[in-house]
Amino acid sequence: MITFALGLKNKFRGITAREGILFEGPAGWAEWSPFLDYDDATCVSWLRAAREAAFDGWPQPVRDVVPVNCTVPAVGPEKAAAIVRTSGCATAKVKVAEPGQTLKDDLERVEAVRDAIGRGQVRIDANGGWSVEEALRALKELRRFDLEYVEQPCAAVEDLASVRRRTDVLVAADESIRRAEDPLLVRKLEAADIAVLKVQPIGGVRACLDIAEQIGLPVVVSSALETSIGIAAGVALAAALPELPYACGLATVSMFTAEVVDEPLLPVDGFLPVKRLVPAQDLPTADRATTAKWEARFARVDALRGSR
Ligand SMILES: [Mg+2]
Repeated sequence: MITFALGLKNKFRGITAREGILFEGPAGWAEWSPFLDYDDATCVSWLRAAREAAFDGWPQPVRDVVPVNCTVPAVGPEKAAAIVRTSGCATAKVKVAEPGQTLKDDLERVEAVRDAIGRGQVRIDANGGWSVEEALRALKELRRFDLEYVEQPCAAVEDLASVRRRTDVLVAADESIRRAEDPLLVRKLEAADIAVLKVQPIGGVRACLDIAEQIGLPVVVSSALETSIGIAAGVALAAALPELPYACGLATVSMFTAEVVDEPLLPVDGFLPVKRLVPAQDLPTADRATTAKWEARFARVDALRGSR
């Protein structure tokens, strides 16, 4: 069992380092990396996902490579266009509704990305930053850039539903889906056209495949900011879904300052390969205090898993 700690190039969810555990089972290496602010009960499904990777392996893929999007943070238009051009991806996800910025900033950024990507796809992600009225006002302007969809325009699932009823832009639910039961509520309220699924929070590749079948919505597989070892599970899900109409949000390992494998899962011409990975010999391990903290957390959550 290896505890890792990787630096992040930019702050994400208020953190500057990503920590977790890597362990090996008969089927291969697995990553367990629930965010530090999650309680033990929440982490059980994350452990189920890791145990699936280590002990069961993943279902047969139906494709060899998976298309991924590049991500454009809340930067100015020139930088936004440069990110798209150097990414090689045919789909760009553009951050909008950034606190402290205006709709004008969003319009300039999305326009620059639309120009840079040519015939590619542009989706936007508000991370729940708009009210219903703000979302409708923004979408009325932004829709002229031929949006693939808007991800999580508002925080509450009820508000997603109300935006969806009043715009012709497709709506994707991301933050509204953090536990296995959430997609069913999204479905029930008709709150989204697309479900963003992440393997660790939902509890594994098979759990995600089951949910995809139950909700009957197209799925975009996304990362929970895993290392390449954990991203491989997301790729396995994307590769096993019967239909994959959209590029996935799995091109995220470039956000780290270091890696745990020799050949990180970085996109080539906008695609990630389907493969299993093993840790590098000299990967950046955590210090003793961090390792002790994670081993204790693992033991608690594993006991909790067994008691259910
Ligand atoms: Mg999102």
